Amino acid sequence: MCQHTHCALSDTVFGEYCRHCDLMFGVDGFHVIGVDRQAGQLVVQVETCQPGLVGCPACGVLAHSHGRRVHKLVDAPCFGWPVQVQWRKRTWRCVEPACGVGVFTEQNEQLAKPRSLLTTRAIWWAISALGESASVEGLRRRLGCSWRTLWLAVKPVLQTMDADQARFNQVSILGVDEHIWHHKMPYERGPREVTGMVDLTRDKHGDTKARLLDLVPGRRGSVYAHWLRARTERGCQLVCVRGVVQFGKE
Ligand SMILES: [Zn+2]
Ligand SMILES: [Zn+2]
Repeated sequence: MCQHTHCALSDTVFGEYCRHCDLMFGVDGFHVIGVDRQAGQLVVQVETCQPGLVGCPACGVLAHSHGRRVHKLVDAPCFGWPVQVQWRKRTWRCVEPACGVGVFTEQNEQLAKPRSLLTTRAIWWAISALGESASVEGLRRRLGCSWRTLWLAVKPVLQTMDADQARFNQVSILGVDEHIWHHKMPYERGPREVTGMVDLTRDKHGDTKARLLDLVPGRRGSVYAHWLRARTERGCQLVCVRGVVQFGKE
């Protein structure tokens, strides 16, 4: 006879969470309280555990609960669907008259940065796909968001990566990839064509991860040559071998 297993999502009103659903969502400290399909998206409602007493981050005085605020986030696609996460954030109010904090909201950067429109993992999902030649246009369709939403989330992360020269340290094979970034006017979205530099170094098992190292505007050979020269000036030795570049050993 068929044994029905029971999802405890239906029991959340009694304060229980479903560990299967939480496992699928996969962000520590978060519980799934609802799943639905709406307008071609998988909509997942989540919340954190009920914390004990919460102090004001500025003055430390015990804060009063101030209800919830829903933060909608684009998450990485799941089971072939674009995913919208609805995080029911807890908010509190500082009751100390001399403190200027007022109302404050719970934050968890493992899921998303404050005011971000994408989850942290959606941003890294997109960056890693860019390293494997996906276009921003294709990725934004799979995420179910606008081009601008995706780019505004990805750009600051790429800029931070750009400032970190240590990312070139272990690179021994470099791939170069040309992207058509968009088909709009450059004044709307910046350069149409970009060249992506991808780390194709093999690990000890002989596998490559195709880690995106850099994106530079333009597609001509001069763009690539200029980028290589800048790296060389910073101490990398580079030798071009049929479209891929070997970083020379000292
Ligand atoms: Zn469940
Ligand atoms: Zn306070």
